[in-house]
This record gives sequence, structure tokens and C-alpha cells, in this order.
Amino acid sequence: MANVAIVGGGIAGVSAAAALRSGGFTGEITLVDAGEFPYDRPPLSKDFLSGRKSLSDIALQPDDWYDRNKVRLLSGRTATALRPGTGQVELSDGTAVTADRVVLATGGHALRPPIPGADGARVHLLRTARDADALRARLTPGARALVVGAGLIGAEVASTARDLGCEVVMVDPVSPPLAAAVGADLARWLHEQHAIRGIRTEATTVRSLRESGPIVHAEFGDGTGEHAFDAVLLGVGMAPDTALARAAGLDVDRGILVDDAQVTSNPAVLAVGDSARVRRGGEVLARTEHWEAAQRDGGRAAAAILGTAPPADGASWFWTDRHGVHVEVVGYLGVAESVVVRGEFGPEPFSVFGLVGDRVVAAAAVGDSGAVRAARRLIDRGIAVDRERLTDPSVDLKKLVRG
Ligand SMILES: Cc1cc2nc3c(=O)[nH]c(=O)nc-3n(C[C@H](O)[C@H](O)[C@H](O)COP(=O)(O)OP(=O)(O)OC[C@H]3O[C@@H](n4cnc5c(N)ncnc54)[C@H](O)[C@@H]3O)c2cc1C
Repeated sequence: MANVAIVGGGIAGVSAAAALRSGGFTGEITLVDAGEFPYDRPPLSKDFLSGRKSLSDIALQPDDWYDRNKVRLLSGRTATALRPGTGQVELSDGTAVTADRVVLATGGHALRPPIPGADGARVHLLRTARDADALRARLTPGARALVVGAGLIGAEVASTARDLGCEVVMVDPVSPPLAAAVGADLARWLHEQHAIRGIRTEATTVRSLRESGPIVHAEFGDGTGEHAFDAVLLGVGMAPDTALARAAGLDVDRGILVDDAQVTSNPAVLAVGDSARVRRGGEVLARTEHWEAAQRDGGRAAAAILGTAPPADGASWFWTDRHGVHVEVVGYLGVAESVVVRGEFGPEPFSVFGLVGDRVVAAAAVGDSGAVRAARRLIDRGIAVDRERLTDPSVDLKKLVRG
């Protein structure tokens, strides 16, 4: 294999480059990214938004990593067209990269819902470091911040805004949010933490936003009229960036469709991370939109290019941090037949486990990474568990993994 072009320098693209090199790939690797340099996205709603970390603190790799690994990094420019027939990737600066294989790692963009006034200057989205800079500038002490959407990113921004001294109102018609991901009881407990930390949560929608000077007037759907804010964050989800793939004639269905090896409908093009979506048999699976899933995709794409065995896969995992609480989730609690609690909702650590029969299928833990690590092994190995031992905090979960 002579050379590979990777479009997108998020965790998926950078992981693909790293896995190619660690797998012994000796050809050229070109990594094209629109941003300043490849940086990590999860801190954008946490320590980067709060100002505790700078952009260089969240770089995915040290500056010299690219030279040491012979990865030609072309940042600050975008791929504007992909011509799979010739292997050409055209760039915004008028140049082109020619590659035998192209990996699309274009991620996605934050959604702007069709609310009148949602495009105002004080109405923010959060996907890039520049977005976070613009939002931070508004989150001054005493500022009134409206967070629309109480999912993962909305909740984290609300927490950070509160830490920065803002008055925060968070609006979401679904209450509690995240029930499918973390189970109804933990979702309720997590949502309650907002009120405890002085954030007002409203189970309603936002009908319209209207800017007048430095104030944004938000009309809520609950009939309470207009409410005044200094800044608004729209945290209502993301959409995968598929335009390049679509224009190149690849199969796309709210994500660039790939097989289990990350190969698209064109065998010379692979897709990874938030922009990709697996099609297995006739079925199109849900996208995961989490950091580790994107990282794993990069490893699988590299294996496909190298012709080696794909890295071991397993239950999906993600984390979220808000109000000083670290939450980790493995598997999908939405498929559990029953949910049991280990410990008590309150001071951490505690966790919930989702079961189908006597097998663990998912778990969510507050302040207990060890419980999630153990749950992951229980899930991946399909080990049957005794519920009493599982829910007894005095029983070391590693013992259950050993059987
Ligand atoms: C604010 C925030 C907080 C998050 N927190 C968590 C968390 O706590 N836990 C968790 O598990 N996940 C979290 N996530 C999700 C996680 O960050 C994503 O799943 C992950 O970043 C996806 O990686 P990716 O490489 O697929 O895409 P991205 O990170 O979006 O990277 C895609 C890159 O491609 C570039 N690009 C796009 N199009 C082009 C083009 N045409 N030419 C050149 N470059 C292009 C973009 O500029 C971007 O740099 C968070 C996401 C956000 C936005």
C-alpha cells in the first residue's frame, strides 16, 4: 500500500493514523484537518470552556508526534472534493492529495433547531474550540445563560456555566433526559443535581428567540411568556458531516454507510467516527457519537487497510462530567429487562446494572470507574452473575468477573 489520505483530525482520524503506523504501515499518511491542529473535543464543554485548559493542553498529540510518525499534517484547510476513481482529494487551498485509500473522519456539526431567532449572535452552538471561546466570552459572572437541551453536552455546559458564576436555566421537554442511556432512576438523580447546584430546569420547549441589543428574549412553550438571557447555548444534538461522501457517490443514510471493517460502498474509501454509520446485513445501526467508539473505528480502519485482524471489539463506553461528578456508562441500558442498584443514590460511589436474565448488558456508575470496568468484562465475556452479590457493595466485582 503506497499511501493513505485521512480527512478529519479528530480522535477518529488521528487514531487511524496512529494505528496505521503502530501496525507497521510504511506508506505516506496525509492528515487533512480544518482546525488549527488536531485537538480533543470532550474538554470543550468542561475544562476548556471553564478556562482551566488551553487549546494546546487539549492537543490530541504533541507537536512533534506528526514528524516522528511521518504523518504529513495539513491543518487549517478542508477537503472540498473526493474523486475515488483517481484517488484524489481536492483541498480548499487549491492543492490536491492523491491516495490509494482515503479515510473520511469528518465528524459532524452541532444542530441548529428550526426555532425562530436560533441564528442570533448570542445564540451559540458547541462543536469546535472557536465555538467554546465564543461561548466562554459570554459566560461572565452573573450572566444569565439559557441552555436548550439537557442531554450530555447541555448538562455539562450548564454545570460549567454555573461554576463560572452564571445564572443558568436549562430547558428540555424530556424529563429526566438520558433515561435510555443511564436508566430512569440514575437519570432522575443526575437531573436533580442541577437544581441542587442552583440551576433552574424547565420541562418545556423554546418557541422562539428574539435579540434586542445585548439581551435574548426566549419564549418558552409552557405559556410563561418571554424570559431574558445574556447568552443561549443550543445543545440539541449533532448531524454527521457527509457532504464529501455524498458528492463522491458513496452510500449515505444520516451517516456514511460502512461495513464492520469501516469500508464504505467504495472499497478505496473508509469512514470512521461520528461521520460513519454501520450497515450490517440490510440493517443500518444507530451511530454512537462517543469518543471511544470513534477511537476504535480508527483502529478498525487501519486494520482493514493493513489487511490484519481487527482489534477486539466490545460493549460501547462513554463518560460525562458535571457538578464534580464523574459518570461512566457501558453498554446500553435501554435494552435491559431489569435494572438493579449497587450502593445507594447519594454520595458516590454507586452504580446501576442492566440485566437480561442473569447476564449484565449495561452499567452506569457515579464515581466508580472500577464498577464499569468490571461490568465491561462481564458483558464482553457473557458471564452469568448472582444479583445479590452484584448489588452488595462489600463484594469485590472482580470476583464476579473471575466467576
Ligand atoms: C462539547 C463536546 C463534549 C463531548 N464530551 C464527550 C464526553 O465527555 N465523552 C464522550 O465519550 N464523548 C464526548 N463527546 C463526543 C466525542 O467528542 C465525539 O464522539 C468525537 O469527537 C468524534 O470524533 P471524530 O473524530 O469522529 O469527529 P470530530 O471530533 O468531530 O473530528 C472531525 C474533524 O474533521 C474535521 N473536518 C470535517 N470536515 C472536514 C473536511 N472536509 N476537511 C478537513 N477537515 C474536516 C473537523 O474540523 C474536525 O476536526 C463530546 C463532543 C463534544 C462536541
